[in-house]
Amino acid sequence: MKWHQRETQDVLRELNTSEDGLSPQTAADRLAHYGLNRLTEEDKISKWSILLHQFTNPLAYILVIVAIITLILQEYKDAGIILAAVLIRALIGFSQELKAEKSIRALKAIMVPRALVVRDGHEIEIDSAQLVPGDIVLLSSGVRVPADLRLFMAQELKIDEAMLTGESIPVEKITSSLELEHLTPGDQRNLAFMGTAVTTGRGRGVVVETGARTVLGGIAQEVKGVELTQAPLLQKFEAFAKRIGLVALSAAIALFLLGILVKEPVKEMFMTAVAATVATIPEGLPIVVTVALAIGVARMTRQRAIIRKLPAVETLGSTTVICTDKTGTLTKNEMTVKIAYDGEQFFDVTGTGYDSKGEFQHQGSPVNLKDNPALTQVLRIGLLCNESHLEPKGETYSVQGDPTEGALIVSAMKAGLDPEVEKERHPILAMLPFESELGYMATLHDIEGQRFIFIKGAAEKLLDRCTICMVGDGRMGSAFQEAANHLARDGLRVLALAFKAVSPDKNTLTHQDLEADVVLAGLQAMVDPPRPEAIEAIAGCKAAGIRVVMITGDYPVTAAAVASTLGIASTSPEVLTGQDLEAMSDNELYDRVQEVSIFARVAPHHKLRITRQLMRHGEIVAVTGDGVNDAPALKAAHIGVAMGRTGTDVAKEAADMVVVDDNFATIFKAVEEGRIIFDNIRKVTVYLLPPGIAAISSILVTVSLGLPMPYLPAQLLWVNLVTNALTDISLACEPGEPGVVSRPPRHPQEGLLSWVLVERALLVGLLIGGGVLYKSMYSLDQGLSLEKSRTIAFTTMVFFQLFQAWNSRSEGRSLFRLNPFSNPFLFLSMVAATLAQLGVIYLPGLTWLFRTEPIAPQEWLRIAAMSLTVIVLVEVHKLLRRQKPRGVVKSGS
Ligand code: ADP
Ligand code: MG
Repeated sequence: MKWHQRETQDVLRELNTSEDGLSPQTAADRLAHYGLNRLTEEDKISKWSILLHQFTNPLAYILVIVAIITLILQEYKDAGIILAAVLIRALIGFSQELKAEKSIRALKAIMVPRALVVRDGHEIEIDSAQLVPGDIVLLSSGVRVPADLRLFMAQELKIDEAMLTGESIPVEKITSSLELEHLTPGDQRNLAFMGTAVTTGRGRGVVVETGARTVLGGIAQEVKGVELTQAPLLQKFEAFAKRIGLVALSAAIALFLLGILVKEPVKEMFMTAVAATVATIPEGLPIVVTVALAIGVARMTRQRAIIRKLPAVETLGSTTVICTDKTGTLTKNEMTVKIAYDGEQFFDVTGTGYDSKGEFQHQGSPVNLKDNPALTQVLRIGLLCNESHLEPKGETYSVQGDPTEGALIVSAMKAGLDPEVEKERHPILAMLPFESELGYMATLHDIEGQRFIFIKGAAEKLLDRCTICMVGDGRMGSAFQEAANHLARDGLRVLALAFKAVSPDKNTLTHQDLEADVVLAGLQAMVDPPRPEAIEAIAGCKAAGIRVVMITGDYPVTAAAVASTLGIASTSPEVLTGQDLEAMSDNELYDRVQEVSIFARVAPHHKLRITRQLMRHGEIVAVTGDGVNDAPALKAAHIGVAMGRTGTDVAKEAADMVVVDDNFATIFKAVEEGRIIFDNIRKVTVYLLPPGIAAISSILVTVSLGLPMPYLPAQLLWVNLVTNALTDISLACEPGEPGVVSRPPRHPQEGLLSWVLVERALLVGLLIGGGVLYKSMYSLDQGLSLEKSRTIAFTTMVFFQLFQAWNSRSEGRSLFRLNPFSNPFLFLSMVAATLAQLGVIYLPGLTWLFRTEPIAPQEWLRIAAMSLTVIVLVEVHKLLRRQKPRGVVKSGS
């Protein structure tokens, strides 16, 4: 018989397991036998494709063609150097890209799927790969089913099996056996299949198949080589480099023709044109962009923000609005019940956190539960209508499950109820699980021979439902509503607890059951302290021109109170509720969305609407989420941020970034990193452009004047591939300027470079060109040999670039205001580049290749003096341009 035809007990027996799960030992034995629960081997990085990528770009083509022509012209040395340059560049590119690709792949490894299982009677979370047949797996909304399961418990359980069956409507799952033998997976409704996603409800099932033996494993495609992950930014830069390459090529051809026109020898002129091309093409740029991205992504990971989709890195830096959840993100999600209310009296609850020390007091003196049946009922409902439990942790406890529910267990314990005993005596017979959309949950219990439905949920969801209470004459006045408002105004989360007696033969629960005769027992109000670092980060966002919008399922008054504590809004801010949203058209919402910063009592689908309207305003929107129903908003937003701890699998998969610690402050840090990455890439770009400008302009002048070339193609290649390559990578490691989060966000439409930077690159290029030309002409004037004067000119160019590297550390700030030690790599690369330069001038083999000659010490000094002028130039330029606002500040925001 097939799995779906058997009774669940039969399946458990067959698999030699029980509802308490396997013992760790059995699980380990079975793992050895069945192997890991995985579909394919790890994706291998294709080294060949990375290597090939180094040669299959226009820059490499140009160089190779040039090398071939040079060969034909019998300039063997130059041809060799050019070819060597292509190879060296490819090797550097290969190793850097491999490293970058590895670090990006490593991110995926951090995100291994996990599964909640029962082993030896305890719920634990394990790596899904460790699952074996016989394991008991727990399912809840948002979970990706980790293996094929035969279900033995299903509460409102619906699963989206589109990826398997193509059917987009979620399937309602059952536990009873099905008769027919041949059923398609879509019809095997008592099985949950690996890879499908739970949309609502709860379930439990026993693993029947793992890995390749699952239905998904059967249809999974053969392993495909994985494409290189490429960020759009990188593509942009490759396009940018190509464009520059084209400019370089046209300039070189023009130079060549000009030379022919003034009757320079053809061969000579060709070599000149080659030199110009070689100097102008920023071969290193795409490599450096890759490296800067990888460094940034690694830095974000260390800050607990894991990038799932590379394009996010680029968008993060220009974020203008962050829409964030409240509970857990802005607050600690460590709930403590502070006050209970039964319709007549308020009770204070002492103690903090998940520590059962504390007691119930009324006006300062302890209360006896026996005298307060309503309070007892409030606490018992909170304890039993509850899916979570506490695990002892040193002196106190930690919550397995929902912190809100954890707080209710703790409050019941403080009143002397024993969770173990109560749960044992009154188990859950049926359940309507909590879903954000509903705002409440219900359970069915047997209490001293009578059946009761227990309901707990958001106060205003339940208060309207109830007409009766336990105190006074039993009629519900406005007392509860007033109490709930009053408690919410203090920022407390208010839960109502209610019940209903039903007939003893009742076994199932539906939402209709909750429509009449519900008795309200009382309220419990809990604090959830704000995260101190969130307060700081919100202030930081303000300074950085980023608006923070709170979107929460919590009560409007509570949300407003918390928002003003956190500094998101003023003391009596405007709040829009889910109901308000329902009554609004998208256009009306569009008109309001820029001024309202608190949305309360909203369902996840409202999040999508808010996000869309913000995006219509041209905002760059980051949105947080954790539930299944948050996935559409996470996908729609520019940056979907899923919570690492409370986030469901589905939310994480939809997100661009996962925040490991659920902390708002981490999102802000990631935005900061995003800005730094973009800054660094710009810095490197500005750094790499001037040598080309210098080469072209100086060559143009020499050709027009009929003077000899100030340098040889090989020497320009050296500047480009040795000097620049050593220093540009270290610029990509710049730690970020102090002002990085105190300026408005970069406009997303803004180009890679601002005009100020283009202007600077031009000025510096012309200065270097002029400086080099002057040194070369002066040396010739002094009667030095052509070789010597070229050596001097070439070294001058190198030193100009070394100083320019320091200039490039900041776009706007003076070099002298930066901490010279904050980027040790720059120092090292400086030393390395200088040593390399000494080598090329004094080492016999190299001097032969590059046709250099040793130069006198005082020459060195003069070269240094000359190249220092670039610092003066850029300092003055920074000073003049600093007054102007940076970037484009949008109007109307
Ligand atoms: P948020 O986490 O943003 O506050 P949720 O959608 O998770 O919003 O919760 C909405 C409301 O539902 C909460 O304000 C609370 O009153 C109620 N609630 C939360 N968790 C539970 C639960 N486990 N059982 C019953 N009600 C709950
Ligand atoms: Mg919640």
